[in-house]
Amino acid sequence: MIAIKNSRELSMMREACIISARALKLAGEAVEPGVTTGEIDRIVRRYIESQGAKPSFLGYGDFPASTCISVNETVIHGIPDKRVIKAGDIVSIDVGAYFNGYHGDNAATFPAGDISPEAEGLLTATRESLYEGIAQAVVGNRIGDIGSAVQRYVEMRGYSVVRQFVGHGVGANLHEDPSVPNFGTPGRGQRLLPGMTLAIEPMINMGGPEVRILKDGWTTVTQDGKLSAHFEHTVAITQDGPVILTMP
Ligand code: MG
Repeated sequence: MIAIKNSRELSMMREACIISARALKLAGEAVEPGVTTGEIDRIVRRYIESQGAKPSFLGYGDFPASTCISVNETVIHGIPDKRVIKAGDIVSIDVGAYFNGYHGDNAATFPAGDISPEAEGLLTATRESLYEGIAQAVVGNRIGDIGSAVQRYVEMRGYSVVRQFVGHGVGANLHEDPSVPNFGTPGRGQRLLPGMTLAIEPMINMGGPEVRILKDGWTTVTQDGKLSAHFEHTVAITQDGPVILTMP
């Protein structure tokens, strides 16, 4: 079932999204050579709790932290720990906050120090592909229009789209219907309606699209060990076009 939010509900949800966005910004500012992923996680948790909100991911399906921090070939769901970030790493951070009865969900990949031109290209293309997808999140379009826009943008540049994980509806629950794949066929899938709120989140690989999950049951890495990037916004579908809720 797809939950449709009225404008009052959307403005309540926006507050959760703003906290998520500010938490992500703080996390990004903390990324530098020498810091551990666990330290970044603590900064985020402290901030979210200081706002009277709860980290959406903490305890979700027994996830042990407030953020997912996924370095280099890790695609998503990296568990923050004592790992020290090195110059040249790319660091994907996914953060959600629960406030007012709603979740906000967003992610970005940050460079640690100077990164290679290849890594820079992957980050730029993944970020841009998110905005290509968001541009299709308009009333009357379908889910396939979002995914195909993301897919076309990155594949034209020689990157690949992860198939095994997809975006999702988000609202009172962190993961709701519909699924929002980063691939697809224009004009296919669920029709987009005003009041739907979607987490659009391209996960884009430098090499092939295949991923595997490590023994901890969470950490998801590229099969070929090449880099992966991840950008995400929570977006509301409205009569006036897409509204990025996770934009402070
Ligand atoms: Mg998400």
